[in-house]
Amino acid sequence: MKIITSINEMQTTARSLKQEGKTIAFVPTMGFLHEGHASLLREGRKRGDILVLSLFVNPIQFGKNEDLDRYPRDAERDCRLASECGVDIIFTPDAAEMYPQGFQTSISVSELSKPLCGANRPGHFDGVATVVTKLFNIVMPDVALFGRKDFQQLALIKRMVADLSIPVTVIGMPIIRESDGLAMSSRNAYLSQEERKSALVLSRTIHDIRALYASGERSIEVLRQKALANIHQEPLLQIDYLEFCNEHSLQPSTEATDDTLFALAVKAGTTRLIDNTVLGENV
Ligand code: AMP
Repeated sequence: MKIITSINEMQTTARSLKQEGKTIAFVPTMGFLHEGHASLLREGRKRGDILVLSLFVNPIQFGKNEDLDRYPRDAERDCRLASECGVDIIFTPDAAEMYPQGFQTSISVSELSKPLCGANRPGHFDGVATVVTKLFNIVMPDVALFGRKDFQQLALIKRMVADLSIPVTVIGMPIIRESDGLAMSSRNAYLSQEERKSALVLSRTIHDIRALYASGERSIEVLRQKALANIHQEPLLQIDYLEFCNEHSLQPSTEATDDTLFALAVKAGTTRLIDNTVLGENV
């Protein structure tokens, strides 16, 4: 497994791999890897001749009062897990390499970045779209894999790739959960024992809303009240948003259908947790 920190070396390597006729599968991450990341890597392993993982905590997608400085890091463990998943190349630049002095270009996916996480994290998705575009230009993947855990991010990247004719196939992968249901996230490491227990209400609520929908309930208001009642049982959690919207446009749904996305974000102390489901999808 090769570790590359320079943009120039990564581009030169990607170019010569392509000249040899090799395809590249790519999994971009911010590190502190867990089974969710591993599921993307294992699928990536099957989808390309060469598997590239990026580890980069992207400063431009963090707000001023967010957790950039304390974002969890463990490069050694990440390398071990990457190697177990068959990664060929880890691309791990530092911030100065990615954003040298004078950097001023930004990609904005205007509509899809407004609702849900975008409403409370101004600039976040511009930071995501910009870094993903830059990483695509550096790694030159044929296929890139993203998790549905960050559903809005995936929707936005698919839109961006289509709009800008970027020659990459984007693949969305299922949410990987702990055995008790909590969606895996690097940020779960921040949770106290009590917060960790409270956080189970997210996956429980996803389950309850899916069950109500499966039993025939189509009223958004009824579904919303059920979800709110669940979350309000947990005094340690504050709701950031709780939305029912179309899975493609992310515009609010008027009634629940198979392509309704139920997405929620809560805060446990300073830790932000998200979860989602598309009501008609098989999970
Ligand atoms: P991150 O390191 O949090 O930026 O995540 C990197 C990639 O892993 C993104 O495409 C995420 O959607 C994906 N990912 C993170 N957590 C999970 C999970 N629990 N299940 C599936 N994919 C995930």
